[in-house]
Amino acid sequence: MSERRFDPFTGRSIVLAPGRRGLGAAKPGGLPEPAGRCPFCPGHEADTEETLARWPEDGGWRVRVVRNKYPLASLPGGDHEIGIDDAAHGTDLDDLSPDHALALWRLYRDRVAALSARHPEVLFFRNRGRRAGSSQPHPHSQIVAIDWEPADLATRRALARAHERERGAPLHATELERERASERVLWDDEALLTHCPFAPTRPYEVRFVPTAPRGRFADATDAELRALSRRVGDAIRRLKAVGVRDYNLVLRQVDAWWHLELLPRTGGDAGFELSTGDMIVVVPPEDAARALRQS
Ligand SMILES: [Zn+2]
Repeated sequence: MSERRFDPFTGRSIVLAPGRRGLGAAKPGGLPEPAGRCPFCPGHEADTEETLARWPEDGGWRVRVVRNKYPLASLPGGDHEIGIDDAAHGTDLDDLSPDHALALWRLYRDRVAALSARHPEVLFFRNRGRRAGSSQPHPHSQIVAIDWEPADLATRRALARAHERERGAPLHATELERERASERVLWDDEALLTHCPFAPTRPYEVRFVPTAPRGRFADATDAELRALSRRVGDAIRRLKAVGVRDYNLVLRQVDAWWHLELLPRTGGDAGFELSTGDMIVVVPPEDAARALRQS
């Protein structure tokens, strides 16, 4: 039996259809295998654009931010940076030491802050695996600045403002309270709630939500980033244990509130999704949270 749920953040419906589980997509996942030498490996620094930031500041680098050689938004008013998450070629965010992971999130927060000072919209995301649209296997993140407001963000902002006007409380605070009391919680840290959302768009979707009432990612505190760096690694490790390899990690910045979404990519969008814009999700988030807690 399927169930339709309403996502108050996007105004979209999602259809939970556990009966369709196992009707997997045939498209192979896994890491891409581009020809030629890896431009992100140490020793190949000349293959990338200039270094904008790095950690540590002296000696061999472990994390490095460079301007993208092939900008996604090479438009006037746009900018595109690549964060090389690790000097090592074969790692992922769940392999990093706590110091390394925290340094990485501080560096990316600072780059988002730097670009936010000059651009109206700054996006942060990470594509891992072919199904997630990745073209490089070396672990990396992307920070993209654009000079227009995407329709999806405009809708999210309008819904959040309408909720606050009508209910007298921020939408994110209302939802944080509901999620915190649910069976979908993975980890409840003081600064961050990690959970499977009520209305996911992907199976095993995980969301990382700061518990502070207000804040922009550009101003994220060390306490938030410490919890984030730990829980992102934990969640990716658990996803791998249930068989998810390909995923996107996406920052949502809606007015004075941010959160991150970890979106497993287990199949392609098909006709239903293209016809409606609404997603069919074959793993209910309550089942996903239980499986991830036990994995
Ligand atoms: Zn490499």
